[in-house]
Amino acid sequence: MTASADKLNLLGLPQGSLEQFFAELGEKPFRARQLMQWIYQRGETRFSAMSDLSLKLREKLDACAEVRLPETKLRQDSKDGTVKWLFASGFGQAVETVFIPEATRGTLCISSQVGCALDCAFCATGAQGFNRNLTSAEIIGQVWHAMQQLPRRPNGEAAVSNIVFMGMGEPLANYKNIIPVLELLVSDWAYGLSRRRVTVSTSGIVSNIEKLADDCNVALAVSLHAPNDELRNRLVPINKMHPISELLESCWRYAAKHSNRFITFEYVMLRDVNDSLQHADELAALLLGKPAKVNLIPFNPFTGNEFARSSADTIRHFQERLRQRGLVATTRKTRGDDIDAACGQLAGKVSDRVRVRLGEKKVRAASA
Ligand code: SAH
Ligand code: SF4
Repeated sequence: MTASADKLNLLGLPQGSLEQFFAELGEKPFRARQLMQWIYQRGETRFSAMSDLSLKLREKLDACAEVRLPETKLRQDSKDGTVKWLFASGFGQAVETVFIPEATRGTLCISSQVGCALDCAFCATGAQGFNRNLTSAEIIGQVWHAMQQLPRRPNGEAAVSNIVFMGMGEPLANYKNIIPVLELLVSDWAYGLSRRRVTVSTSGIVSNIEKLADDCNVALAVSLHAPNDELRNRLVPINKMHPISELLESCWRYAAKHSNRFITFEYVMLRDVNDSLQHADELAALLLGKPAKVNLIPFNPFTGNEFARSSADTIRHFQERLRQRGLVATTRKTRGDDIDAACGQLAGKVSDRVRVRLGEKKVRAASA
């Protein structure tokens, strides 16, 4: 993102903050809605082109504000239609965004942090360490670029119908910046997506699951990955702070606040680690009778990692066992293999190169 120090970036500001900004300029609150429509619905970032704002207001805006987007470093298109973007995030680093087209929907997987501090044992982003939180502008900017660049569907709908926070970073560890983004995603003046089509995925920051239930009722996915604390402590270290029982309690409270709301539990399939039928039974016992469904994710390997993907047969048997026990269980299809766009492989190639150059194994930032 190119900084122009003295101008306020209006990208990513929620409606309330924009209204306050216009009030300070002596303008009516509805200007905020007009501006949101220009930026998010028409993709216009130049105030000079916003023809239903008075000339005087456009000049005032030019003097003190701007709409500053993240800078695209690279776009890669996979043979299967998956698209991956790399966005500059400063100091030679980058974050990744992935679009996955399917017959009836198009899912955009967005990043919320540069790296991640939670260090899950099987995740390339975790292996990179934490660098910093993305701003609201940098997060919604990923959506803006995808919406601008991807052609509409034949029926005229936008290519992106669903948004998942499953790129780099832990969204609930960047709570204050994701809330305005969620608001814009569901706002009729911005992207107008249904709340069911926006999913926050978390490895289990319990206090913020509770807050999210009150602040913005979107779909929730929880990265469980193990059916007992001993194993989960190893795979998802945040479990040592918030063990499974505490995590699940917060999930059921989340679901209870919104009727008909299922929580998706993600479970990465790691060969000989968490993929036995006994593990499936243990998992079923935790979730049965609750508003839960399970999404099995075949592990995506990356260099320097000790784990291997469970075989297709093992994954199928595991899924069947969960279904026999009465759970809804699906398996995620792996897409974009030729461009390293799969879950957990996102680490920002630019920063990889920087690290290789510096001869570092891991980039660990000093503080969160
Ligand atoms: N930090 C959040 C969201 C980003 S990760 C979270 O952990 O939920 C999105 C999903 O990808 C999570 O379920 C995560 O556990 C999973 N994942 C991470 N590394 C993976 C890998 N190498 N293969 C498959 N899935 C992986
Ligand atoms: Fe962070 Fe999610 Fe990766 Fe864990 S799986 S290290 S929480 S991005």
